[in-house]
Amino acid sequence: MTTPSRQLRFSSVADVIQRLNPSYPVFCVFPDILRARARAFVEGFPGTVLYATKCNPHPYVLKALAEGGIEHFDTASISEIAKVTELMPEAHCYFNHPVKGRGALEAAADVYGLTDYVVDHLDELDKVISVAGTDITIEVRIATPKGKAVYDLSAKFGAPPDEAVTLLKEARKRGCRTALAFHVGSQCLDPDAFRVAMSLAKRVSDEANVPLEYLDVGGGFPAIYKMNVPPLRDYFDVIEKAKADLGIGVPLLAEPGRALVADGCSVLTQVHLRKGDDLYINDGIYGCLSEIRDGDLDPPVRAVSRSGEAVSGESRPFRIFGPTCDSLDVLKLPFHLPEDIGEGDWIEFGLMGAYSIGMQTGFNGFVTDTIVRIDGMHEEFVF
Ligand SMILES: *Cc1c(COP(=O)(O)O)cnc(C)c1O
Repeated sequence: MTTPSRQLRFSSVADVIQRLNPSYPVFCVFPDILRARARAFVEGFPGTVLYATKCNPHPYVLKALAEGGIEHFDTASISEIAKVTELMPEAHCYFNHPVKGRGALEAAADVYGLTDYVVDHLDELDKVISVAGTDITIEVRIATPKGKAVYDLSAKFGAPPDEAVTLLKEARKRGCRTALAFHVGSQCLDPDAFRVAMSLAKRVSDEANVPLEYLDVGGGFPAIYKMNVPPLRDYFDVIEKAKADLGIGVPLLAEPGRALVADGCSVLTQVHLRKGDDLYINDGIYGCLSEIRDGDLDPPVRAVSRSGEAVSGESRPFRIFGPTCDSLDVLKLPFHLPEDIGEGDWIEFGLMGAYSIGMQTGFNGFVTDTIVRIDGMHEEFVF
């Protein structure tokens, strides 16, 4: 029997091109890849895995991860909590934003019944307790050293260790359950950063001397953007060993975003004009491709012609411009594409699952709002 949603499913990117002939950008989701990544993380990580919803909140992505065994979600806003809860009523959401509005706290506590709240300041602890009461778990977020991560996530949030000790003691004194959390930074290329942060967490916990419900080691697990990236197994081994060596007796949580979704989606764009070695395409830094500039990412790209075949010609460097009128809308890196590429050909950007569709601005009226599901693994981008 054919269901309406089946019509939105494709067998490959070539199938998308043949059936849609899209002059608009298309965001391609590969649920089979997402399910496989989720399963591998859940099986490999020595603890509970929360998906960091902000990384890609599209329902196709959330659903595939849930089917792969993810039952817990790191959420930062009521919109994220609502989306996860609507799709997966049994899911467990954690309110892991260290700064929350009172209205959002009320909705989280009273409507959605959340029980886990991150804080990194005494005033936030007061606020959370005044709205949500004390029958909750207060997760104190500690600031960690930046190390070898591409993005530092402790420059804005996280309490210094001595303040974290005070926060834990205070939360406990007021009758809350307590837990600890950190984030080593996104796209963290050094597994040892987790050991260093875990030993800091252990020191804080010993000094506070309160019982912990769990230690949340955050996200930061890397995706393989052509960089020399250690395999996830190395991270899991370091974390498991550090837990044993440091004598951490409480359950672990992790909040991966990027590592779960990066290679499970791609962005299919079209060349609308070629001027010499400059290509003007229909997605850019105000759309799904902002991270290529901000994170200096070098994702795999390939050119596809109208027939669905690869474009011919020797590969050479091109500069790529996005569709908005802003001169900043350019991808800094040279992209190596076949010399015969021209108007009407497509460029597919691989490894675009993370921080892409969720970060679009809609500036200048350009937005990637055609999202398709493609069955099977990605045949052209193999990592
Ligand atoms: C963004 C974020 C994550 C996910 O980080 P990745 O680098 O994508 O794994 C996890 N936890 C928190 C609190 C975050 O802000």
